[in-house]
Amino acid sequence: MWTKTKDGSVLNEAGEVIFFSTERFLSDIALGDCCFLCGANPGSKEFNNEHILPRWLLRRYDLFDRTITLPNGTTIRYGSYTVPCCKDCNSLMGSVVETPLSEILNKGCDAINDFIRDGGLLKVYVWMGLIFLKAHLKDRALKMHRDQRLGDATIAQTFYYDWTDLHHLHSLVRCFVTNATVEREAVGSFLTLPVNTKDTDDKFDLVNLTVGQSMLLRLGNISLYAVFDDSGAAMVTCNPRLEKITGPVNTLQMREVISDFACANIHLKDRPTFMTQFSLDQKFSRIVANRPPAVLLHELDKSVRGRLLFLAVDHALDNIRVEGLSQPEIADAIKGGDFTFLFNKDGSFIKDVIITDDHGEQKT
Ligand SMILES: [Zn+2]
Repeated sequence: MWTKTKDGSVLNEAGEVIFFSTERFLSDIALGDCCFLCGANPGSKEFNNEHILPRWLLRRYDLFDRTITLPNGTTIRYGSYTVPCCKDCNSLMGSVVETPLSEILNKGCDAINDFIRDGGLLKVYVWMGLIFLKAHLKDRALKMHRDQRLGDATIAQTFYYDWTDLHHLHSLVRCFVTNATVEREAVGSFLTLPVNTKDTDDKFDLVNLTVGQSMLLRLGNISLYAVFDDSGAAMVTCNPRLEKITGPVNTLQMREVISDFACANIHLKDRPTFMTQFSLDQKFSRIVANRPPAVLLHELDKSVRGRLLFLAVDHALDNIRVEGLSQPEIADAIKGGDFTFLFNKDGSFIKDVIITDDHGEQKT
């Protein structure tokens, strides 16, 4: 029989944590140094480094020596972008999550969509959620400033991460450890889109939008989008725009899609709530969500949309050309919140170009 601890966590007969209460998640995982999956203390078993992006991905896209840009604008090599994890959990993740996903994700967009349609959504979603969670946990260890005179605060401290926001995602990505059932409502928005890669030689993109818990991952000509705490509401909100996308998106357009997901999530009037239900004697757990009766949004704050889109495309700003606008004016137009890379003035999808005017009109 499972048991419940004082703080509300649930343990199995072996003392392994089936469910981390918010309190225990905060003390042991988010603010502690235990294995981020099983919660083992570093002194209690063998630990090794878990890459935030799995090794097969680093190999396949030749990323070991490439860098990721951190929220403070500095960079770190993907190859050294790791979080502590016990060896057992690392092996388990490899066999249950990484190996099957590496095979599916190598087969192209149609195979991924077939896999998802045939019941594989949770696996892909968990895989993306693990990357999002690990990236944020890593920010606890990275200094905001390399110049020590500017203080020794971490990125996580500087950006005021509210770790309770990640409690649900932590519970969900552990479902392959705990065998918890995950109800469909507990899974957030998810989308795949084919990508037109004519505008880039890179084969890989990763965008994490902390506010809005949204993540974009591009692997070659496939882009994957996920929101981790919206119970599908961003997808409902964005669907009318998404339906107008009639071909592969380019790398700026896909960044607009993920920033719109985050924007919709931020603007939700009533948020879903998540919980894990148990039967201690039947040794059963289930992750569920309570959805509001309808998806309702606050009035759009254009500056929020603008900031998110700017954050997502900032790296490419020098290469974006808009007739009649200087680079600072392009930046201001994006920050204004009305800018779109996706659609012409008449609302039709822009195919195969990245050069747009200030309203996204195609220039040839
Ligand atoms: Zn572990």
